[in-house]
Amino acid sequence: MEKISCEIIKDLLPLYYDKVCSAESVRLVEAHLAECQHCRLELETIKTALHLPEAEVMNNYNEAAAIKGITVLWRRSKLKSLIIGLLAAAVLFGGYVCLSQWEIMKVPADVIKITEVSKLSDGRIVYHAKLTDGYSLNRIDYNMDEDGNFYLTPLRPIIKTRALSERFLEMYETLEHESYVYKEKYGDDAEIKAIYFRTSGEDILIWKKGMDLPSASEEVEAEKFRHE
Ligand SMILES: [Zn+2]
Repeated sequence: MEKISCEIIKDLLPLYYDKVCSAESVRLVEAHLAECQHCRLELETIKTALHLPEAEVMNNYNEAAAIKGITVLWRRSKLKSLIIGLLAAAVLFGGYVCLSQWEIMKVPADVIKITEVSKLSDGRIVYHAKLTDGYSLNRIDYNMDEDGNFYLTPLRPIIKTRALSERFLEMYETLEHESYVYKEKYGDDAEIKAIYFRTSGEDILIWKKGMDLPSASEEVEAEKFRHE
């Protein structure tokens, strides 16, 4: 029998692989493959080639799944970072705002100087208050009790700010506003008997009922008119 060329076998191999060729062809192909390594390799190539698409599909699927997983993970961690970042920023900002705006710190007793407690010609009591440390003050809390005690509590944030000018840190004050606040709370007949600055240390007495007061100086009288 004439030896079948590799070319013919090569043509037959796909049919052989798919088992769609005749028994005669199968016999010829197998006889040839037994002796020809080249055609055996060709058959292997066909097997691999035919299997490849399926394998690739699986690979692609896995890759896609992997990429999707990574993306989800990445997105999730990115979102997490973003949230953590935002929270951190909020905490820092909130913290700064609290520290610089939230007026919770009392003033040390030694920075409040009360002088010139005196009586104006119209009978009102006046005093001069000064903060000596240069830091601004925007808030004074009021506390009072039924016994006629009235407390002024100057408060500052933890992060203090310097006053723009020394003159914002001192002023002449009468007890008018405090008296009004006191009567609002305890009735028209109620009167303040003592008024204090409350500090981080001891309370500082500004005035007490029965205190012997000098008449206000001309400058203070003039100051009173400048205030009104
Ligand atoms: Zn061959």
